[in-house]
Amino acid sequence: MANIQTPNAVRGTQDIIGEAQESFAHVVQTFERISRYYGFEAVQVPVIEQTSVFARSLGESTDVVSKEMYSFEDRGGDSITLRPEFTAGISRAFLTNGWQQHAPMKLSGHGPLFRYERPQKGRYRQFHQIDAEIIGAAEPLADAELLIMADQLLRELKISDGVILNLNTLGDANSRDAWRLALIDYFQSHKDTLSKESLDRLERNPLRILDSKSADDQKICEDAPVIDDYLTPEAQDFFAQVTSALDAAKISWTRNASLVRGLDYYRHTAFEFITDRLGAQGTVLGGGRYDGLIENLGGAATPAVGWAAGIERLAMLIDTPNKTGPDTILIPLGDAAQTAAIAILSDIRRHHISADMAYKGNMKKRMQKANAKNAKSVIIMGDDELERGEVSLKNLSSGQQESIAIENIIAALQKL
Ligand code: ATP
Ligand code: MG
Repeated sequence: MANIQTPNAVRGTQDIIGEAQESFAHVVQTFERISRYYGFEAVQVPVIEQTSVFARSLGESTDVVSKEMYSFEDRGGDSITLRPEFTAGISRAFLTNGWQQHAPMKLSGHGPLFRYERPQKGRYRQFHQIDAEIIGAAEPLADAELLIMADQLLRELKISDGVILNLNTLGDANSRDAWRLALIDYFQSHKDTLSKESLDRLERNPLRILDSKSADDQKICEDAPVIDDYLTPEAQDFFAQVTSALDAAKISWTRNASLVRGLDYYRHTAFEFITDRLGAQGTVLGGGRYDGLIENLGGAATPAVGWAAGIERLAMLIDTPNKTGPDTILIPLGDAAQTAAIAILSDIRRHHISADMAYKGNMKKRMQKANAKNAKSVIIMGDDELERGEVSLKNLSSGQQESIAIENIIAALQKL
């Protein structure tokens, strides 16, 4: 045989099957179901966008744009980027399709995202998110509604224990600017102890020092100026309306005054649901208000708020749902039986009953296979029995076996 080296999977990507896939699918299905209760409309946006869609909206100095994007020049010479997040692409779609006429729009979606990060548990280069956005709503109730929906999702996934909603406000543009100046002053006076990365942030985006993962930086951040001292009365009022709506809905939350999000576009509400069960990768869901983003993309000022959650991280936290096996497995014994089994199998499936066929090996092997697949029943078909127009149906949970006429198979299976 020629000496061909089998290619490896790309670093930071995963092939998902079995229990991990069951959990993954359960997260997506639960999200889709709950989005419907809240009146969200499903949307699909492209995996690729013009690089400027992300560069302009996320902020040039963010980690995602400066270090993590998968960007390439396509054959036509355009700079294209594999989406690192949903919000910018959905906002672009809102503008290019003239969805302003439908505002406020509640949109939800899920799919793969790409970031060139150092792969580790809970952190991949291709990962997946569920995402919910309300575009064209300036009211704090929109923020609250999204948070209430996120809370319900985590509850229904049965992972809300130990997950805490960390809530902050970044204020309006005036509050944020005043706070920013105070932070620059403060961090300037700690220049010699800041990490190299944070020194760089000090030049470009000082708020993000608060998001630093370095322990030394975090210590300095403990005494940094807090947004509360700079909030305008309007911004205070906005935040108070969000929190009183949460209290009314009995959502527990904790104020985290140093919570800033990794991307530049946030205003007012910023939040993360954080668990202590995933080590350093503890943020399972995050988001906030991004009133300035659509303007940065060249649209009219449009208030908006949204969140996203990593499907893999949620899937790691949930108990794998019980895998349901097929309703039945056909075991034909003999050549004639096998041909008859194909006809019966097709008929069963056309009645929306799940079924498979075990046609290899001795009887014992085939029964083992049916048990391993967690089938509810097996249909054993011997040539003699078939000649009489009958098969044997065995209920695998009760162990009961009975002979039934072929024309009664569907009815018998529907009763199981
Ligand atoms: P982190 O601080 O963990 O890097 P982030 O602020 O970059 O997170 P967001 O951009 O807010 O994350 O994305 C929202 C969610 O998507 C995160 O809370 C996390 O669950 C998930 N996520 C982000 N990056 C990755 C990744 N590389 N692999 C797996 N999940 C991820
Ligand atoms: Mg990140």
